[in-house]
Amino acid sequence: MSKDFKVIQHMADMLKQGATLTELACPACASPLFRLKTGQLWCAKCKKRVVRLKEGETGEANTKGQLVNLENTVLKKIQAVEMKMREEEDSEKLEKLTSTLDSLLGTLEKLKKLKS
Ligand SMILES: [Zn+2]
Repeated sequence: MSKDFKVIQHMADMLKQGATLTELACPACASPLFRLKTGQLWCAKCKKRVVRLKEGETGEANTKGQLVNLENTVLKKIQAVEMKMREEEDSEKLEKLTSTLDSLLGTLEKLKKLKS
């Protein structure tokens, strides 16, 4: 029995046991990973459990994407406040707008720090 055949046999057994094939690749041998019923990732070729590195990477990318969205929202708010400030002549309202702008700028700074 060839080594490859054994691997295929093992894969078939895993599928029979309810494991599903994922689009993720094993970091060690690049063969497709299985997801066991327990949720763990398994490489049929290495015959060992694989830590979810790839998924972690996508997770981080998603977080960064969300931060960019949030940053754009804050920037739009800052522009809106700025427009109001230009037209506002009531000093009390102007003060409120200034403090709003101040907290928005603080948020923007925090977002930039999180992104880096
Ligand atoms: Zn492997």
